[in-house]
Amino acid sequence: MTPQGLTILGATGTIGVNTLDVVSRHPQQFRVVALTGQSQLDKLAEQCRRFAPRYAVVLDAASASTLSGLLAAAGCDTEVLYGAEALAQVATLPEVDAVMAAIVGAAGLPPTLAAVRAGKRVLLANKESLVMAGELFMGEVRASGSVLLPIDSEHNAIFQSLPDDYRGDLAAAGVERIVLTASGGPFRGWRAEQLADVTPAMAVKHPNWVMGRKISVDSATLMNKGLEVIEARWLFNAAPDAIEVVVHPQSVIHSMVRYRDGSVVAQLGTPDMRTPIAHALAWPQRIDAGVAPLDFSTLSGLTFEAPDTLNFPCLRLAFDALHAGGNAPAVLNAANEIAVAAFLGGALPFTGIPGLVDAALARFAGQPCASVEALLSCDGEVRAFCRARLAV
Ligand code: NAD
Ligand code: MG
Repeated sequence: MTPQGLTILGATGTIGVNTLDVVSRHPQQFRVVALTGQSQLDKLAEQCRRFAPRYAVVLDAASASTLSGLLAAAGCDTEVLYGAEALAQVATLPEVDAVMAAIVGAAGLPPTLAAVRAGKRVLLANKESLVMAGELFMGEVRASGSVLLPIDSEHNAIFQSLPDDYRGDLAAAGVERIVLTASGGPFRGWRAEQLADVTPAMAVKHPNWVMGRKISVDSATLMNKGLEVIEARWLFNAAPDAIEVVVHPQSVIHSMVRYRDGSVVAQLGTPDMRTPIAHALAWPQRIDAGVAPLDFSTLSGLTFEAPDTLNFPCLRLAFDALHAGGNAPAVLNAANEIAVAAFLGGALPFTGIPGLVDAALARFAGQPCASVEALLSCDGEVRAFCRARLAV
């Protein structure tokens, strides 16, 4: 068997680390060609020592020089590159078959899109790519014939619950609605006045999943579910009204599809990102992911409730942005990234996040999005606007 050549964008993050864990269980099946990381250079050096990729990519010249020193000391001959061009370069190398897109935020869009344009199999964790540029992104997927596989657990569950030959027409597949499950985050049931005192340490502690800081805060505000609604709209060509959100605090049902005949098909499992990662890495085959089997005897119950968009307005803002279309989802995403960073840095209260996003939508939404370049420039303007508001 020729091993699949793999580039992992964002190798040092939680998705990157979980991907390497699955890969390490199948050394005959996967060969790591490139790893990238922005910080945590010691961790990246250790990953290079262990997986011997041909390239490692970091942010800038200073990091490249530090990493080169660490690699030389470890006797590892991985070549070190840096910068945005290098990210796109390692995502499009001829010896790369699949790209795990696991950079967080808008920074993930350019290299992920480069992988799509090069016709690679793209394992998409970076939901922000689709939120920002869904229509253009999916157009590029169709044009290149790239195979796009969702890593987000909900979307991976929906992918597994749709017919194998699903080609983007829900009605033709007999599907009425897609049902995204949400854990509700660490503050489920809290009211706005209680949320005012939430600290970053409280917000990044998710009840069911260990994740990066940004997505953990997004889960706590329910913005993550909002981003996922937009992601689902593009991945599955689902009209906004065909997407439903239900809170399911145990995170055992990862999402569901409602069919016309009343059937509801769901994917269940222990909450562990190695399941969707292994699914996408091996698709259409199945490989061991190292995940503990779901133990029904210890499940105390599966419960469901409606999302609380009154105290958690981010989910409603995302639905509004999806309905508005054009640049609105990109504005939502950029403002949210700045708001979350400000919250994590102590410059904005938790309850200030939706307000900043709302203000950015009021100021910038309503433009069409003709190109990725236009979206990136809009992204920059929104960030500048939000930073200026935070400074006053
Ligand atoms: P993380 O913060 O743990 O890791 C992010 C990775 O991106 C790191 O390797 C970091 O070095 C790199 N990075 C950050 N900024 C960068 C930049 N400007 N340029 C280049 N590289 C940069 O995040 P994560 O939890 O692994 O999430 C990664 C992506 O996967 C996010 O888009 C997130 O929404 C999505 N996702 C994560 C999970 C999860 O369980 N962690 C689940 C579903 C989707
Ligand atoms: Mg998810």
